[in-house]
Amino acid sequence: MAKQTVTMEKLVALCKARGIIFPGSEIYGGMGNTWDYGPVGVEIKNNIKRAWWKRFVTESDNSYGLDAAILMNSKVWEASGHTTSFSDPKMDCKKCKTRHRADNLIEAHSKGTADPDTMSNEEMENYIQTHHVCCPVCGGFDWTPIRTFNLMFETSRGVTDESQNKIYLRPETAQGEFVNFLNVQRTTRAKVPFGIAQIGKAFRNEITPGNFIFRTIEFEQMEHQWFCKAGTDEEFYAEYKKKAFDFLCDLGFSPEHLRFHDHEKLAHYAKEACDIQYLYPMGWQELNGVHNRTDFDLTRHQEYSGKTLTYVDPVSGERYIPYVIEYSIGADRLMLAVLSEAYDEETLEGGDVRTVLRLHPAVAAYKAAVLPLQKNLAPHAKELCAKLKKLYSVTYDDAGSIGKRYRRQDEIGTPYCVTIDFDTLEDGTVTVRDRDTMSQIRLSESDLIAFLAEKCAF
Ligand code: ATP
Repeated sequence: MAKQTVTMEKLVALCKARGIIFPGSEIYGGMGNTWDYGPVGVEIKNNIKRAWWKRFVTESDNSYGLDAAILMNSKVWEASGHTTSFSDPKMDCKKCKTRHRADNLIEAHSKGTADPDTMSNEEMENYIQTHHVCCPVCGGFDWTPIRTFNLMFETSRGVTDESQNKIYLRPETAQGEFVNFLNVQRTTRAKVPFGIAQIGKAFRNEITPGNFIFRTIEFEQMEHQWFCKAGTDEEFYAEYKKKAFDFLCDLGFSPEHLRFHDHEKLAHYAKEACDIQYLYPMGWQELNGVHNRTDFDLTRHQEYSGKTLTYVDPVSGERYIPYVIEYSIGADRLMLAVLSEAYDEETLEGGDVRTVLRLHPAVAAYKAAVLPLQKNLAPHAKELCAKLKKLYSVTYDDAGSIGKRYRRQDEIGTPYCVTIDFDTLEDGTVTVRDRDTMSQIRLSESDLIAFLAEKCAF
């Protein structure tokens, strides 16, 4: 059930070595919880976002895309409740002066058996004292009391020092969808129920160690808000739980590595909420959330902006503020789950071990690698590569033995290696090697194009 081979250290090392993900600002000693996507990583992440957008926007009935500004009027965050209640319970270790989240300390110590989400700050402090939860950095047991700490990054805008106004980097993308609810509804003539989705950067001043790209201070969210009439919300909540789960299975996740976690302690806006957790190398952790946000957000924005956000049913003339079912998933957290799920080490005949990323072909950075068997076949291989590049993301490699070239492609998850040999010059066929089975078939160029189209579709 659990994937034994993958550890965070192995993933981080592979990602760095193969141009998937680099530590942020590395030549300056790095900056905690920031990472840069390299040439291979940016392709994989873009493909993940594309697959999500296709599933939840373009292929979906009555869902519309949006790309709202990161910087919003500060009143948005007052209305949403973020300025007053978007905080984490922090404790400092007095011995080594590191800062930690009390809920994370409890989760790690209890190995998921205690649920800090249901505890008050006082209960968390008591748990840490009675269970003698030590500092994970120095092993000390000398904690400050819990203090709450707002997670929003502040900045300021204004032309002179005296006229600076405080503004925030958005901590979630959802508010852009709420404030544009009627703009989207009117311009698309959408009828409730309908959805608004967007993918964009969000920022949180997370102080705890991030477990690679699991928890970063700058990340991308893919959020989908489904606006529906009160009374239908529970049905849609169940539907979105299923859609979120199915999307992951279709991306190649084993259902055994996924589970639902229903929230007992609900956020101030939520009627029902759950996470889908994934069995990451460090254990079960939240991958995405599905929340029934009721009419909280639209009601608050109506109140704070003074502008009506009421929907008028075109048939019955009924006026109401819709309920919202939110489905929210971090693109980076999903990327980490995709990489963990795909990572494999396979012992070959003869004892060699190959590392292979068994990515869904739709998310692989390159759909194929074109490899001339020998250097003098390079012109022909480059010609085929150029033709394929018009249709797919394809790479070319003529350096080193064919075996070494296969291994390099295995490590970045390229599903097919297309080898040009002397028969290619004779009959126009190429060898296509499958990453997972390592089996080979011969195809003509035109069959190759149809083959890749079929195999790489999502
Ligand atoms: P957590 O409890 O892990 O902090 P959350 O419940 O605060 O997450 P939400 O506010 O519901 O998360 O955000 C929706 C999604 O955005 C999460 O399920 C996760 O995939 C992603 N996400 C949230 N915070 C981060 C972060 N700091 N880094 C990367 N992804 C994040």
